[in-house]
This record gives sequence, C-alpha cells and structure tokens, in this order.
Amino acid sequence: MCSGRVDMGFVLRAFENGIDGVFLGACHLGECNYITHGNYQAQNMVLLFRRIMEHIGLNPERLRINFMSGAEANVFTESVNDFVKTVKGLGPLAKGEGIDPTELKTRLAEVKRLIPYFKIVNREKLTTRLEGHDHAEAEKLFTKEEIDKQFAEVFSYWIDPEKCQACMTCARRCPVDAIISEKQKIHIVDQDKCVRCGTCFEVCPPKFRAISKITGPVPPPPPEDKRAVVRKGKEEAAG
Ligand code: SF4
Ligand code: SF4
Repeated sequence: MCSGRVDMGFVLRAFENGIDGVFLGACHLGECNYITHGNYQAQNMVLLFRRIMEHIGLNPERLRINFMSGAEANVFTESVNDFVKTVKGLGPLAKGEGIDPTELKTRLAEVKRLIPYFKIVNREKLTTRLEGHDHAEAEKLFTKEEIDKQFAEVFSYWIDPEKCQACMTCARRCPVDAIISEKQKIHIVDQDKCVRCGTCFEVCPPKFRAISKITGPVPPPPPEDKRAVVRKGKEEAAG
C-alpha cells in the first residue's frame, strides 16, 4: 500500500486493537513515482498523530515513519529492528505509560470522533512538502501547544430552534450529512455525526444567525411536535 494511503484512522485502529507500535516504511521523499507524492502526506500524518498521542498520554515513539527504497533491504531490516527494540523498551501499550486500558479506550474513542476535525483544521499542513530528512526540524510542523489548543477549542455546533427558518442551506453544505433536515421543520445537528467543520456556522444566512458554537453540553433538540417553523413575519403579525 502507498504510504500516502495510510490514514490516521488506520493508526488509531491499531492502537485500539492493543498493538504496541506502528511502523510505516515509505519511499524516499522526492522519489515517488506519481505526481501525488503521498509519502510527504504520510510523514505529515505521522507528525500530527504523534502530537495527538502525546496529548492523550501515549508515548509518540510508538509511531514511526522511515524512508527507504525497494532496493534497500538492509535499511528496512535495520529500521524495523531498531523500532522493535524501542517499542519493547516502552513496554506494552497503556501499561508502559501507566494508563488504565479502559481509560485509554475512552481517550482513543474521543480521538476517533475528532479525526475529521483534525484533518480539516490542519489541512494545509497535512499537504505541505517538508524537504530534507532533519527529524528535529520536521517535528516542528505541529507543536504540542498547537495540538493541545485544538483539543481545547473543539466546539459543538447547535441550531437555535427559535431562530432556524428551515432554509436548508446548512443541510445542503454539511459534508457528512449531519444535519437532520426536513422542509418547514427546525433543523437539528446530529452531534454523533458532526465532525465540527464549522461549515454550517459559516453558511447560515446572517438574517437568521441560527447556529452557535458552544462548549459543554448541547441543549436537547425540540420534540417532534414542536419542530414546525414559525415564519418570523407571520409570528410578528399574529403577535
Ligand atoms: S459543523 Fe455543521 S456542517 Fe460541519 S459537520 Fe457539523 S453539522 Fe455538518
Ligand atoms: S442555514 Fe440556518 S436558518 Fe437555514 S436551516 Fe440551517 S440553521 Fe436553519
């Protein structure tokens, strides 16, 4: 498999399954046979995920990418042997970090939910091309502070039933169909599906401003029999 195809979700699944370490062998940077140069993206993905690991208390040394060509069997062998030695030194996943395995599951589940958010927030850096093999320099692409801040700034998006006018703009633009949408009915964000991209917030017409970013618990949606939209004009006329 091309290293560029290795998604953060694959790495996460390995850790969810209790794997102690994940190693990616990728072609040398600049030597990809295709215009996509997926190995740069693989490197960026690893750099980002290592920061995420750090945030949730996992040792980032459990994830490594090394570059080599198909003719460098010796490099492959040496890289894998060194990685195995490192991971053995760290001990079993979770136990090595002193984290309760159930707690680790909870933390990984939260990361899984936020993967699309991290991809959207970091999309420019994830597609950048870092030249050279200076590992210390590459590590600066994502800083710990930056990723900690991204974790802290995850908002929920909520549609105010008093303001929604069922214009359907948000539902048409949501990239993951996370908005429960029916004609003439107050729209609702499905919080389990929402990837926190913020598109709905941006596109809700300024005359309605029905969508808010909120932290903490999201208010429950209106019951089905209270979802009919009352047009602003009609409400005012009736009043
Ligand atoms: S923030 Fe809005 S547009 Fe983005 S996924 Fe969530 S509901 Fe959809
Ligand atoms: S864009 Fe705003 S007003 Fe239109 S349906 Fe969505 S939340 Fe309601």
